[in-house]
Amino acid sequence: MDSKTKNKELLRGGQFLVKETPCEDIFILEDINEEQKMMRDSVIEFNDREIIPNRKRFENKDYAFTEQCMKKAGEMGFLSVAVPEEYEGLGMDFVSTVLVCDYISSGTGSFSTAYGAHSGIGTMPIVLYGNEEQKKKYVPKLASGEWFGAYCLTEPDAGSDANSGKTTATLSKDGKSYKINGQKMWISNAGFCNLFIVFARIEDDKYITGFIVENDPKNGITLGEEEKKLGIHASSTRQVFFNNTVVPVKNMLSERGNGFKIAMNALNIGRIKLAAACLDSQRRIITKAVQYAKERKQFKTSIINFGAIKAKVAEMATNAYVGEAAVYRASKNISDRIAIRKEQGNSHQEAELKSVEEYAIECSILKVAVSEDAQNCADEGIQIYGGMGFSKDTYMEAAWRDARITRIYEGTNEINRMHAVGMLIKKAMKGHVDLLGPATKVGEELMSVPSFDIPDYSRLFTEEKEMVTKLKKVFLMVAGKAVQTFGTELEKHQQLLMAAADILIEIYMAESAILRTEKLAKAKGEDKIKTQIAMARLYLYHAVELINQKGKEGIISFAEGDEQRIMLMGLKRFTKYANMPNVAKLRIQIANKVAEENGYCF
Ligand SMILES: Cc1cc2nc3c(=O)[nH]c(=O)nc-3n(C[C@H](O)[C@H](O)[C@H](O)COP(=O)(O)OP(=O)(O)OC[C@H]3O[C@@H](n4cnc5c(N)ncnc54)[C@H](O)[C@@H]3O)c2cc1C
Repeated sequence: MDSKTKNKELLRGGQFLVKETPCEDIFILEDINEEQKMMRDSVIEFNDREIIPNRKRFENKDYAFTEQCMKKAGEMGFLSVAVPEEYEGLGMDFVSTVLVCDYISSGTGSFSTAYGAHSGIGTMPIVLYGNEEQKKKYVPKLASGEWFGAYCLTEPDAGSDANSGKTTATLSKDGKSYKINGQKMWISNAGFCNLFIVFARIEDDKYITGFIVENDPKNGITLGEEEKKLGIHASSTRQVFFNNTVVPVKNMLSERGNGFKIAMNALNIGRIKLAAACLDSQRRIITKAVQYAKERKQFKTSIINFGAIKAKVAEMATNAYVGEAAVYRASKNISDRIAIRKEQGNSHQEAELKSVEEYAIECSILKVAVSEDAQNCADEGIQIYGGMGFSKDTYMEAAWRDARITRIYEGTNEINRMHAVGMLIKKAMKGHVDLLGPATKVGEELMSVPSFDIPDYSRLFTEEKEMVTKLKKVFLMVAGKAVQTFGTELEKHQQLLMAAADILIEIYMAESAILRTEKLAKAKGEDKIKTQIAMARLYLYHAVELINQKGKEGIISFAEGDEQRIMLMGLKRFTKYANMPNVAKLRIQIANKVAEENGYCF
C-alpha cells in the first residue's frame, strides 16, 4: 500500500452510501501490478492447458480428474496464494487472491467449486482461527495440495439456518477428546479430501463449535454416494456421516461456541471470492457468443448484425465490466484495511478477519449481483447459440448449468440480500455509519422546493454522478422510513428488505462502474474509452429503472396517504434524468466494439 493510501482515511464498509468516493480512491482491474499480471497470466495459461480442453471429462463426472487438476494447481502454487509465508504459502495480498479466484474459475464450475471449497472454506478457517500448532501441522499440507480440505456446516435440517445443526460433540470422560456424531450434507470435495472442518454442538450450547477432523474411515467416518446434480458434474458432493468419530481436544478450532462466528466469517471471505469466480466465466461466454454470432448466418446475414443479438452482447459485456469494477474496488478496500490493521499491530489473522468483516455488506452485495449476472450471461449465451445452445456438444449448456449453483451456496441470494441490509442497519445503530443524519436531510429535502438550477452537464459523468447521489437518497428515504415505521420488527418484512437490498446493490454496482470509467478516462483520455463510458451509462440506466420499480414497491407496501404521496414524489424526483441516455444507441456501440475485437476486451 502506498503512503498516500496509508494516510488517507479509508471508507468503512457500507459508507459508500453516505460518502462520495473520488475515482482516484478506487482500485480498478487496470491497476494490477507486474507481479499480479504474471500470476493472472499463469492462471489463464493453466486454465487453457489443463481445464478447458478437458471440459468433457468434467461433464462426464470424472471426479478423479478434478482431484488430479487440483494437485496440479497445488504444484503451480495456486492453492497457497492466501496462505502466509510462515506456513509455506505465497502470502499474497487480498487483491491477488481475488485475482486468482477470478481467472481460475472459468474453465468449468466443477473445478471452480473444488478450488473454492479447498482453498477458501476448507483452508481459511485454520489459517484464520487455528492456533500455532494447528497451523503448522495442517496449513502447509493444504497449501501445497498434498492434502485437501472440505467444510462441513450444512445438515439435512440445517441449511440457511446454519446454527441449528444437530451434530454433537461430546467430551470424553478423561477430557482428552470429543466424540462427534451427526450427518452433514452437500459437502464439496468430500470424496477426496483428507480433512474436514466440522461444526458441531457441545451439550446444549447456544452456538456450534468448529473442529479439525482428519478423514480416517476407521474413525467412524462414512460417505454417501455422489449427489446427482444439475451442474458442476465433477465436483465431488457427498453426505458425510460421523459415528462416534474421536477428535482430540487440541483439534478444536478457536474456542468452544465460536463455530458460528468462524462459519460466518469464512463465508464473508467466500462471498467476495465467489463473486470474483463468476467473472472470467462471463468473459469467456461473451467471447464464445460473439464469435459464434459472427459466424452464424441466417437470412444471409451474420446474426451479430441483428439489433436483437447486439443488445444481448452489449448487456452481457456491460454486466461483466461492472462486476469487475465492483469486485476489485471492494477487494482493494479489504486489502488496504488489512495493511493498516497490520501496521497497527494486528496479527495477520486478526487483520484479515476484521477487515473482511468490515466489508461484509459489500461482500454480500457482490455475491448476489455477480452470481446473477453470471447466470444471465450464460442464459443469453444459450439464446445467441439458438438450438445449438441447448446441445450438450456446445460450451453454453454446461456453463448455464454450472452457473446456477452460485446463487445457492455461500448463503443463498435471499439470505445475502437480507444480510446486506440488516448489517447496514446494525452498523448505523452502532454509529459506524451515519445513516440517520443523511436520512433526515433527505426527509427535509422532500418537504422543500426542488432547485431549478441546471448544472453544467458537459463534463464527463456530471449527470451520472448526480444521479448516483440521488439514488442514494432513494435508499435513505425508503430504508430510513421503514426503520422508523417497523423498528426491530423490520426483519419480518422480507419483501421490503428484498426491495431495499436491490436498491443498495444497484447503487454500489452503478457507482463502481462510473468510478472505474472516470479513473480510466483521466488516465487514458475519454476518446480511448468510449465503450467503457457507454457501458457505465447503460448500466446506470438499468439501475435507475430497477430502483424506481423497487422503491415504488417498497413505499406502497408500508406508507399510506400523504406520506406515501410525498415519498412517491421524492422517488420520481430522485430517479429523473435531465437527459435520457439513448440506450439502443449505447448497446449498438458496445456490441460493435466487442464484435470488432472478437470477444470481451475490457
Ligand atoms: C453443490 C452444492 C455444494 C455445496 N457445498 C457445501 C459445502 O462444501 N459445505 C457446506 O457446509 N454446505 C455446502 N452446500 C450447502 C449450501 O450452502 C446450502 O444448500 C445453502 O446454504 C442453502 O441451504 P439449503 O439447501 O438447506 O436451503 P434452505 O435453507 O432450505 O433454503 C431453501 C429456500 O428458502 C430460502 N430461505 C431459507 N431461509 C430463509 C429465510 N430466513 N428467509 C427467507 N428465505 C429463506 C432460501 O433462500 C432458499 O431459497 C452446498 C450445496 C450445494 C447444492
